[in-house]
Amino acid sequence: MKTSLERGWACGDITTFAGKVKLIATGFAESAVAVAQAVHEIRPKTKIQPKYSTTTGVPGVVAGQP
Ligand SMILES: Cc1cc2nc3c(=O)[nH]c(=O)nc-3n(C[C@H](O)[C@H](O)[C@H](O)COP(=O)(O)OP(=O)(O)OC[C@H]3O[C@@H](n4cnc5c(N)ncnc54)[C@H](O)[C@@H]3O)c2cc1C
Repeated sequence: MKTSLERGWACGDITTFAGKVKLIATGFAESAVAVAQAVHEIRPKTKIQPKYSTTTGVPGVVAGQP
């Protein structure tokens, strides 16, 4: 998701790579990857990882879940 611009990331239809499929779901997933990479580069000690709502719950949906 990194671009040729310093600290520039991209996602969605504007990006291209081998096997790229331009779909809403593709761009949505790429955004999570782009943000994770950007955060890690800006704050090297911080690593974020997209998580499964199956195991984390969806915030505010189920009483008692985070
Ligand atoms: C006819 C058609 C049917 C499709 N059907 C499906 C489908 O059934 N299912 C599916 O998953 N995908 C479908 N897609 C693909 C899907 O629409 C795209 O993959 C998705 O919209 C890409 O999202 P995006 O945010 O990357 O780009 P976009 O949705 O194109 O958003 C980019 C935005 O940036 C804006 N923009 C451009 N230049 C600038 C600028 N200089 N400054 C500010 N803003 C700017 C544009 O106006 C636009 O709003 C279809 C696409 C087409 C064309």
